[in-house]
Amino acid sequence: MKNREIVKILCLPYCSFYKEGKEEMLCFCAELLMMILESDKREMVIDVLSSNKGPTEKVYYQDRQSLEHLCSKCGFYITGCDFTDPDFKGYSPPCGGYIAIMKLLRAHAVSWDKISSVVKL
Ligand code: SF4
Ligand code: SF4
Repeated sequence: MKNREIVKILCLPYCSFYKEGKEEMLCFCAELLMMILESDKREMVIDVLSSNKGPTEKVYYQDRQSLEHLCSKCGFYITGCDFTDPDFKGYSPPCGGYIAIMKLLRAHAVSWDKISSVVKL
């Protein structure tokens, strides 16, 4: 279930799939972000996501780390996510959660080590 904070700082500014009223399921990256917001990284994460809201890149590609640590743990993986569906023809952007996590990684607000440690909690 989405909470108001995650909708405000993540879904609305970053996700092209957000639909008001569709509150039933979170992508894994949104769940992860909620966990990170409860850690000592909270202020830095909010600062980065609040600055220049929205995607920083036009096209996103999967790599081994994002697949292993993010998408493969997500309930939308492949069957509910064209970005990860190998049978999908053309390009689909990832969800806003993925975009936000990539932005945080690039800004060094989080690291893959931090993500791994949060996920294992
Ligand atoms: S896919 Fe993730 S980022 Fe997009 S609306 Fe759903 S919870 Fe928010
Ligand atoms: S890009 Fe797709 S599989 Fe990866 S976290 Fe987002 S919704 Fe889930």
